[in-house]
Amino acid sequence: MGLKEPRRGAEAATLTVRVTARCQGCGACLLTCPEHAIRPHAGWAGDGGDPLRVLPDRCTGCGECTEVCPVDAIEELP
Ligand code: SF4
Ligand code: SF4
Repeated sequence: MGLKEPRRGAEAATLTVRVTARCQGCGACLLTCPEHAIRPHAGWAGDGGDPLRVLPDRCTGCGECTEVCPVDAIEELP
């Protein structure tokens, strides 16, 4: 399920998706994001912390990352 409206400018400063601890580190979301908004942390695959971060100034809320994640690890934020 994608988000309704792309967010740009001032609205894009609000984080629209969040990667949860369910992430298995497959990398599909990084390759899919058209805005290159998802970045890995050091030790991102299995260190127990937030595995990936989403850059709020790049994410438009298109929802494409949530579509490709095989384990439904990316949550859409209100
Ligand atoms: S919602 Fe779209 S722009 Fe934001 S991180 Fe996911 S794929 Fe990238
Ligand atoms: S697509 Fe899902 S499992 Fe794969 S790296 Fe992204 S959040 Fe993690």
